[in-house]
Formats: sequence, structure tokens, C-alpha cells
Amino acid sequence: MKIKVLGCSGAELPGFGLPSFLLDDSILIDAGTTTAAIGEGAQKKIGHIIITHSHFDHIRGIPTLADNMFLRDPGHSITLVGTKAVLQVIRKNLLNNIVWPDFTRKPNLKKPALKLKVIKTGKPFRILDYRITAERTDHTVPAAGYIIENSKGKKLLYTGDTGPTDRIWKRADMRSGKTAIDGAIIEVTFPNRMKAAAERTGHLTPALLLSELKKLRNFPKKLYITHIKPQYITTVTKELQKLKIKNLKILEKDRTYVI
Ligand SMILES: [Zn+2]
Ligand SMILES: [Zn+2]
Repeated sequence: MKIKVLGCSGAELPGFGLPSFLLDDSILIDAGTTTAAIGEGAQKKIGHIIITHSHFDHIRGIPTLADNMFLRDPGHSITLVGTKAVLQVIRKNLLNNIVWPDFTRKPNLKKPALKLKVIKTGKPFRILDYRITAERTDHTVPAAGYIIENSKGKKLLYTGDTGPTDRIWKRADMRSGKTAIDGAIIEVTFPNRMKAAAERTGHLTPALLLSELKKLRNFPKKLYITHIKPQYITTVTKELQKLKIKNLKILEKDRTYVI
């Protein structure tokens, strides 16, 4: 599995992009940074966008990507994948013909620029050759993480935004069986001194990450950190290094990781 990081920060500043990951050139996972990060050719290869939750920093690329596809190739459809609660919020508040055109009906109902695929947590579904399972996380709005398995048995876990939680770790153990998840992309947003703010807003600190990881039966083979607020990047990086977790990497924008 090839994961290109288009953005992996919890706020936007020059050099720091909002979360968005391109899986094997074809599936976009969250859409914080999209159309400013890859060209039209790469954008056209995206067939699906998997969304964790409706917060702006994870959905901003949806309308601009739909617009580009509509302009260049009106027959091209991209499928937006998420739970009912998440997709409803996006339609009602973003693609509502006020903030942005409703590309789920444009250019026409039969071949819209954006198709919607509603998925249920805990119920595996297929996209291309991947078997994907969503599971609820604990955030301030309905949110889900995803476990994505390719045909060769490689498994990727992405939490999206979450505070301390249980279900996603249980689901990851269930999906991975006796082996471990090959790659886990987990959020850490705030430094340890902001534990209260992290818990209130449904996020993790390095110390909270450590206690969450202990809930997993098998430690992920590779652990990637996303969603750090650039304002706290120095402190959070030091605190993560102090944990001395083997195979932990802080994701970097515009880099590609292979699991
Ligand atoms: Zn969020
Ligand atoms: Zn976020």
C-alpha cells in the first residue's frame, strides 16, 4: 500500500496542510488538502473519497475537487464514502447550492460529479480490491476511523480525529487477527500540558496516545502520527520522542509511505 500524504496537520499554515491521504493513487482518505497539493492528472485518478467526519479541516477539498472534475470532464464521477450522519452534514451545509453547488446532482442526476456511498460502522464494504471496515471514534461530532485491507492482506488503520476511545482498537484487533496492523495512522493534536483541552475537543496528546496504544493486543508494525497543530509541533515532537516507541514516525506532507 502506498500512502501519499497531501496534508497531515491539525491547522493550516505555510508548509502545513490539513489532513488528506492518497492511497495507491486512487482513494483519497479525508480531503483537507487536495486540489492545491496534486495536479489535474492525479486528481482525475481519484475514484473515491473516504471521509472520517464533517469537520472543515477534513472536507475542504471535496467541493474544489468536484468543481475541477466537472470543468474538465463532466461525465466523471467520484464516490464520496462515509456514514449517513457525516454525508448528511456535508450535503446540507457544504453542497447546498448556497456555499457551493450541489455536485451530487450536477451536471445531472444520472452522472453527477459526486456520488454518495453510505456505509455502516462495523460492516465491511468493498472499494476496488480493498476490504474496508469503519468504526466509531470519540470526537465532538459523529466520526469514524477506517481499517483498510488490500488483496495481499496488508492492513492500514486510520483513526481520523479521536479522543480516548475503545471501539476502533477492538475492531483493529478483530480485523488483524493474530498478526498486527501493518500501518496505523493515529492522531495526536495537542501537547501533554493541554490534556484537558484534548479531552474536551476529542483529540489526543502524546501521553493519551500511549494509554490508547495499550488497548491494542498487537502493536502496529508501523505507527504514523498525524494532525499535530503546527503551533505545538516542537513540544509534541519532543514528547513523542520521549515515549521511545519503536517504528513511530511523524508524517510529513508531500512524502509517500509504503506499508
Ligand atoms: Zn475534527
Ligand atoms: Zn481535524
